[in-house]
Amino acid sequence: MKASSEMTLSDKDGGGAGAIARLLLRWYDDHARSLPWRIAPGSGESPDPYRVWLSEIMLQQTTVAAVAPYFAEFTRRWPTVADLAAAPDEDVLAAWAGLGYYARARNLIACAREVVAAGGVFPDTEEGLRALPGVGAYTAAAIAAIAFGRRAVVVDANVERVVSRLFAIRTPLPASKPEIRTATDAITPEDRAGDFAQAMMDLGARVCTVREPACLICPIANHCDAREQGIAAILPAKTPKKPRPERTGTAFWIERGEGDAREVLLVSRPAKGMLAGMRALPSDGWSARGDGDGVPPVNAHWQVLEASVTHGFTHFTLTMQLMAARHDGGDVPEGEWWPVARIGDAGLPTLFARAAAGALACWPDGDD
Ligand code: SF4
Repeated sequence: MKASSEMTLSDKDGGGAGAIARLLLRWYDDHARSLPWRIAPGSGESPDPYRVWLSEIMLQQTTVAAVAPYFAEFTRRWPTVADLAAAPDEDVLAAWAGLGYYARARNLIACAREVVAAGGVFPDTEEGLRALPGVGAYTAAAIAAIAFGRRAVVVDANVERVVSRLFAIRTPLPASKPEIRTATDAITPEDRAGDFAQAMMDLGARVCTVREPACLICPIANHCDAREQGIAAILPAKTPKKPRPERTGTAFWIERGEGDAREVLLVSRPAKGMLAGMRALPSDGWSARGDGDGVPPVNAHWQVLEASVTHGFTHFTLTMQLMAARHDGGDVPEGEWWPVARIGDAGLPTLFARAAAGALACWPDGDD
């Protein structure tokens, strides 16, 4: 039985690595997932770098199932990078609403415009791609491999899991990342680099899954050290995360009009900072200062609603109380009066879409 990933890496360097790639590619030819942004293996078609880039940006921090309808809508409205570059920011941000991590949407717009300004063609190297807004090391490697067939070491969360098990890497994530990258490099072939990257992703999504790796049907089981050692299900080990800090805030539902003419005040978030540039309900400073101060933006007869929204951001968890009032004619923050009946079309980010739903559930008729 092998005792360390270094031993198994050298074994795989000595001949096993090529076999792993061959077995995986053969499996991929028969079992590749059908995804809207993907070219089926053996189809003879060339991938469209725009679609590959768009899908990879959308897939950062988000699942395939969540991305699919957004990808369909974006490519329907903006079928080329030039179309996307020409779109108004607010249209793209509104279409992105619900996918989260809104800095990605702003980088998406900036990147499309940079590509168009440079002639409308995506760079075809990792280095060139890396220089684009919102394209990090992983995304550059994935696009270089998938769109341009370049040999690149592509390591996403699925690949981290597969490689940790294949090489029985016991060091916990994230400390094991360099070791995982070296091991992935060792098994990445020169040819069909894009198919290999996607085969590894598919194996992680369908066979070498988080909870129950299906080693009995795995095409590379005979090369897998974790399976041999009986430790597949406990890898990859992870360093426990610190609990996220908690913040509180308040969102304000300010309404005017009656019946079909009911309108709610929406504001634009500041151009920098959290949810920058997005439409939102007015709120009380939780994003800039920590806990919000709970002070409403206008004098009115406010009701504290029996509803709150809890939302996880990357660095903290926010619990947002909801308050509602009818506008009595005084000054309000700069914004737009939006028809309540069309609140679903406002492109609110998830936090504020849920706050709006909570306010309407508690205050269905806008009574005060
Ligand atoms: S044999 Fe099992 S643990 Fe190893 S790569 Fe395949 S599914 Fe994952």
